[in-house]
Amino acid sequence: MNKMGLEEYKGVYVFAQQVDNELSGIAFELLGKAKDLAKDLDTDVTAVLIGSEVKDLADELAAYGADKVIVVDDPELKEYRTEPYTHALASVINEYKPEIMLVGATAIGRDLGPRVSARVATGLTADCTVLEIGDFPLVAIPGREQKHNQLLMTRPAFGGNTIATIACPDNRPQMATVRPGVMQAIDKIEGAKAEVIEFNPGFTPDNKYVEIMEVVKSVTDVVDIMDANILVSGGRGVGSPENFKILEDLAEVIGGEVSCSRAVVDAGWKPRDIQVGQTGKTVRPNVYFAIGISGAIQHVAGMEEADIIVAINKDDTAPIFDVADYGIVGDLNKIVPMLTEQLKAV
Ligand code: FAD
Repeated sequence: MNKMGLEEYKGVYVFAQQVDNELSGIAFELLGKAKDLAKDLDTDVTAVLIGSEVKDLADELAAYGADKVIVVDDPELKEYRTEPYTHALASVINEYKPEIMLVGATAIGRDLGPRVSARVATGLTADCTVLEIGDFPLVAIPGREQKHNQLLMTRPAFGGNTIATIACPDNRPQMATVRPGVMQAIDKIEGAKAEVIEFNPGFTPDNKYVEIMEVVKSVTDVVDIMDANILVSGGRGVGSPENFKILEDLAEVIGGEVSCSRAVVDAGWKPRDIQVGQTGKTVRPNVYFAIGISGAIQHVAGMEEADIIVAINKDDTAPIFDVADYGIVGDLNKIVPMLTEQLKAV
């Protein structure tokens, strides 16, 4: 248990996820947030880069805010596997003692984060959407010590019906997994350099008991909705899978991608990888059309950071209008084709 000597733990660390020797967007997002936290704690930012022949990626991490990069490089780490990666990251933590350790809530991070936290005997707050430095408890309670400069980790709880702020005052590191698409990367600093530290945790046969026989990649020409500048998103109000054609036509005219609410996925109208929201993806496009979507809290959690939100709904009391910049009250079957025709003419 890492209770002793909490003050020994220093620095904000980020797991710099890479796949096929290409850094994932979440690595840059976490570095952006880590910089803010490090500023508040007057400390520095370290990226932990784990893989095989990945050292060259250190400059890119420096360009997005890493002061130091700890590289764990071993042929065993070429593809992500739970055990060797857990061993690598847990060993880095035991050796360097970070005060804060951030991991992306990606498929890899959701597997790795909890296992590493158990291995180093600390807590982990999963799927955070807000991270800040503050006091814990938030307000002073008689008889209870209030600790300062704690990592306050906020995440939706009870099915998104409440927002919980969690702290880890008695153990280090303070660990969180963070939702992709929520934090913002800093602008790239060309030519930035980080101190690169190579670390070898040593691998024993126990660390590599799963052997990868083959990697089969899904081939798709669909753009990830998290990368789209314009999203035309449909909800249950669209009425049927066939009727999504009117949204696709609009998306084509304005160079957007189609996304949807969970009700649409649950009905089997559209695949889960285009679902926006708490249990789907968090998106931050320039323009987000919410068409036939009521605006449930779990949906809004995934799209409220869009620059411009346009809502089309026949119910003028729908909560989506509370977050919309522009609202059109009416039947989407009339409005969407009309909009498409008008925009075609522009
Ligand atoms: P509805 O709520 O049924 O809304 C349909 C809307 O369409 C209505 O506002 C209606 O007025 C409008 N409409 C109907 N016909 C027309 C028409 N002809 N013209 C114009 N407007 C019309 N939801 C998500 O989206 N993403 C998530 O990630 C997500 N995660 C969840 C996680 C948990 C733990 C839970 C409990 C729920 C989650 N949900 C999520 C579900 C969420 O609570 C809502 O049920 C869901 O978002 C509703 O989808 P909807 O807005 O498409 O459907």
